[in-house]
Parts: sequence; structure tokens; C-alpha cells
Amino acid sequence: MSQQDYTPVLVLGGGLAGLTVALRLADSGVHVGLLAKRSLGDGSSYHAQGGIAAVLGEDDSIESHIEDTVSAGAGLCHRAAVETAINRGPECVDWLINQQVPFTRKDSGDGFHLTQEGGHTHRRVIHATDATGQAVMQTLEEKARCHPNIRLFEQHIAVDIITSAKLRHAGPNRSLGIYALDKTSGKVITVTAQTVVLATGGASKVYLYTSNPDTSTGDGTAMAWRAGCRIANMEFVQFHPTCLYHPQAKSFLISEAVRGEGGQLRLPGGQRFMPDHDSRAELAPRDIVARAIDYEMKRGGYDCIYLDISHKPADFIRSHFPNISKRCAKYGFDMTTEPLPVVPAAHYTCGGVVTDLNGHTDVTGLYAIGECAFTGLHGANRLASNSLLECLVFATAASEQIQHDLVEKEFGERRVPAWDESQVTDPDEQIVVTHNWDELRRAMWDYVGIVRTDKRLQRAMHRVKLLQEEIRDYYSNFKINNNLIELRNLVAVAELIIGSALSRRESRGLHYTLDYPDTESDDNAADTIMVPTNFSNDRVGVGASLVGTGAQ
Ligand SMILES: Cc1cc2nc3c(=O)[nH]c(=O)nc-3n(C[C@H](O)[C@H](O)[C@H](O)COP(=O)(O)OP(=O)(O)OC[C@H]3O[C@@H](n4cnc5c(N)ncnc54)[C@H](O)[C@@H]3O)c2cc1C
Repeated sequence: MSQQDYTPVLVLGGGLAGLTVALRLADSGVHVGLLAKRSLGDGSSYHAQGGIAAVLGEDDSIESHIEDTVSAGAGLCHRAAVETAINRGPECVDWLINQQVPFTRKDSGDGFHLTQEGGHTHRRVIHATDATGQAVMQTLEEKARCHPNIRLFEQHIAVDIITSAKLRHAGPNRSLGIYALDKTSGKVITVTAQTVVLATGGASKVYLYTSNPDTSTGDGTAMAWRAGCRIANMEFVQFHPTCLYHPQAKSFLISEAVRGEGGQLRLPGGQRFMPDHDSRAELAPRDIVARAIDYEMKRGGYDCIYLDISHKPADFIRSHFPNISKRCAKYGFDMTTEPLPVVPAAHYTCGGVVTDLNGHTDVTGLYAIGECAFTGLHGANRLASNSLLECLVFATAASEQIQHDLVEKEFGERRVPAWDESQVTDPDEQIVVTHNWDELRRAMWDYVGIVRTDKRLQRAMHRVKLLQEEIRDYYSNFKINNNLIELRNLVAVAELIIGSALSRRESRGLHYTLDYPDTESDDNAADTIMVPTNFSNDRVGVGASLVGTGAQ
């Protein structure tokens, strides 16, 4: 891409959401530019293990999938979003099958094998063995790489959305394009586009421990916030109970099936603790197990706890968990003879950029799809395997709406200023950035984790405000790089999560606070909507401020 460029549609992100919208549009003859901040496959989609939930079995029904989703969502699912996702699920899975994704077939060879996961009352998860994301992504990536209507720009990280409000143009706030850092040349390029689609994934990297890859830094959510979009329900962060605790295995999950097959959770001294927390012990639901582990780690000041299945025969363990046992051995742990050190880890961001059912945000010409979006599908807790479904369905709906917009609306010649580097110099020392990355993630883990209190949240907010000042200062004075861009986004997302958590005066779904342990009646259930102010002053992206907040 040259220093200034134009494309009708610009997609930010090459995960399942981004590739789906890009391929759907490109197949209809639309020219699409697709940016990915690392290589194309680098994102959560590639790591998805379980599969995609959709009504595919003969004994299953749309009503049943809707009921399971709404029941997991603890009173906050938006009925229209749930119905859209579930009604369109089978058609979207068919599209993947037509793209030749190698889903696992039944032993009989007749149709596809479906698994049943926690919270689902039927078998409805289509999968490709235990590496669904890899199979889907490899198939779509190959198509995107050779599609004549798609221009791929890997190693380009979007910095900010250029909007008419930031440029003080009259009329409604409109997206005009983006600034992006070409990581190879170190130059910031300007791309104008009639439509910009955020498909940048979740924000779980804001926590010290996460199952997510390094790409999940909430960039789309932060950029949309600075562009003037509302952000909803950021307090609902899903934690996976057991991620291997090892510096090199930062995003390796130990499947819940290990507990299902008899694995026991123990303190560093060897005592089992789950029976004290729930009568179902290790088989309690995911959020209860994560909360119990968090409680014990905080109470004892432990860095990790242990998952032990070594009482089972070695052959049983190896045959049931071939991949996990191999991966653990790679990091020096023999799960057939010793307990595995584990910690809960931030896994999924339920909140995000508020959109309608076509992925459109509050800013004209700006869409958000996939994990960075808030459609209302998940409510206060995500049902397993509904997130890949959300990526597929809302990327498809967005592609249809975008085609309609491109035909209907004239974009015209838009002039935007180039990125201004005249006032900044090369960074004097990187330690400020690396130190603040660590401090932020540690503060979020310690004070805004699985079990919250107002005091901890206020403490975290205080730290985040100080970090924000420092990062803002650094951002205004020095040339940008990948780590600084991500840190600036992470600190914005941290503020949104804490602000949302502070404004919810109850425990609901994934948000649990000792100060308000009860759940209000579902009749009073409301989303937490953050409304940005000051975003029109933000040409080089100093940051929108969090003024208008509160459950609505
Ligand atoms: C270990 C693991 C297992 C999971 N298993 C399942 C499962 O079985 N079923 C299920 O439904 N869900 C599962 N999930 C959740 C699911 O994988 C994600 O919610 C989904 O893949 C998100 O897709 P996405 O396209 O929105 O984002 P991602 O796949 O994360 O892609 C984001 C893309 O955006 C790019 N990007 C980000 N910021 C920028 C920027 N500033 N500029 C340019 N590019 C940018 C990234 O490089 C990447 O290409 C799992 C998640 C994890 C981590």
C-alpha cells in the first residue's frame, strides 16, 4: 500500500469475522482491502478448539438453541440478535462446508459429527477434530490469498479511524478511512474507504493471564470508542478455569474434559478444595470453578494451583488427552505422574462496540463484527461455541448491508490530512512502554478479575488513570510503534471494563462482586452502555473520555 490509498471497503482483521465479510463481498464483485497486524492467521479464530454451534441435528430445534443461549445469558440476551444468529446458523455453516472446510464426519460417513458442550441441551457443535479454528482458517485464508478482489496487507496495524467529527466537517459523524502503521517500513499510511469494518477480535490481553493470542488487545473497541461509538457490557469477561501456568505456554488451555475424566484441583500443599465450594466439586460450571480458584489463589497468595489426574492409569491419560499430554511434555510436565500448574485465564470479551443486526455502529460507514462487536447475542455470559457462530452470521449480514450501501450512497472525493509526525521524535526509551504493559495487566488481574469489589475496582481505576496520563504523554511526543499502539488501546479498554463494572450494582452472569452478591430481577436487567464524549477533538487520537456512563 502506498502512503495514501483508497479502497471501497477496508476490513481490519483477518480472523473468522474479517475473512468471512471479505470473501462474501469479494465474491459479489466488491473490491476489499484487508489489514492484519501480524500474519493473517494470527488471532483467536485459529486457536478455537471445540467448534461452531448451529442447529444441524435432526432431533434439535431452533427454539432449543435459542433457549440455551438465553438461559446462559442471564437475563441480558437481546432476543432479536439471538434469533438472527440461530436462524441463520445452518445457512452460514453450509457456506463453510461449500468452501471445503474439512469438518469431522460421522463414523458412518453419513453427514457430520456433532458434539454436545456445556450449557447445550443437544448435540449441535460442528467441528474439525479438536482443532476447528485451524481447519476453518486455513481453508478461508487460502481462498482470500488468491482472490482477485482482495488486497491483503499483513503486518499493518490500524492506529485510528479518521472521522468527519475529528476533522470538524459538518453533518453526521462519518468514517472516512484509517491511519495504519506499516510495521515493515515503520511508516504510517492513510487509507480512505467508503466503509470500514472492524473485525479485530477481543481484548483478553488486558489481563495478565489469558488463553488468547497476543493479537487480542481490544484495538477495534478502543478505536471505535475514540471515533464516537457506544461500547456496551464490557464488565462481562469470561474466564477459562485452567490455563497451563508456564511462561512459554501463555495461551495453552487444559481442556475441561480433564476435570470431566476425574482430574482434581489442589492447592500447592496438595489439599483438594472444590468440594468446599460446590457440591458438584470439579464438575461445577466453568464460572463457579474459575471463581473458586481465584478465591483460593487470593486467600493463600499463590501464583497458581494444580490440576491432578495422575491417579488415573498413564495409558488412559495418554489415549484420552493425546494433544494435551504432548504439549505438557514439551513444557517439562508429565501429567501421568505429576499435577499440572494452572491458573484461570481471560478467555472471551462479551462486550464491545454497539451494533445493529447488520453490524453497523453509531458512526456512518463504520461496521463492527466478531468478538469486538456487541450484538446482544451473549448477554451476561457466552454459551460455548456461539462466538464463531456470531462471527459468521453477523459478517454475512454486514456484507449484505455493505453491498446495499455501496450501491445506494455516493462517497465522493474525500480529502483527509496525512499523518503528522512533525512534532514527534524517536522514543528515548522503550522501558516505559514495557513497564506500563506489565503494570496494567497485573492491576487488571489483581483488582478487576473474577471476583470484584468496589474498593478493588476503584484502586484499579486510579492506577489506570495514572497510566493513561503517562501513555498519552508518550504517545504525543514520540513516534508510534506496535507496542505503544496496543498499550494505548489496552488502557482505553481497561477503563471501559472498570467503568462498566463499577456501574453494575449487582452480580450477574460473569460479573461477580462481593459488594452486591445478589442478582436483580430479570425484569430490571439492563445493559451497561458507555457513551463517549470529546471524541471530535481527537485528530491524532488523544482519547475519548469516559463521562456518560451507566446501565441503561
Ligand atoms: C483458545 C481458544 C479457544 C476457543 N474455542 C472456541 C470454540 O471452540 N468455539 C467458539 O465459538 N469460540 C471459541 N473461542 C472464541 C473464538 O475463537 C473467538 O471469539 C473468535 O475466533 C473471534 O474471531 P474474530 O474474527 O472476531 O477475531 P480474531 O480471530 O481474534 O481475529 C482478529 C484479527 O484482527 C487483527 N487485528 C487486531 N487488531 C488489529 C489492528 N489494530 N490492525 C489490524 N489488524 C488487527 C488480528 O491480527 C487478527 O487478524 C476460542 C478462543 C480461544 C482463544
